[in-house]
Amino acid sequence: MTTTRKCPICRRPRAEEFTPFCSSRCKDRDLVRWLDDGYALPVPPSELDEDAEA
Ligand SMILES: [Zn+2]
Repeated sequence: MTTTRKCPICRRPRAEEFTPFCSSRCKDRDLVRWLDDGYALPVPPSELDEDAEA
């Protein structure tokens, strides 16, 4: 009985190397997804206001 495991992100066949994902991209995407769920990454104010008051 063989079950084809699929990447939970994009549903493509997963790769051994990136189990349970198909690629490093999907692996990263999953990480970002649960980070987004909990809290947003702080953005340095300097990057936001660079144009505001120069
Ligand atoms: Zn994938």
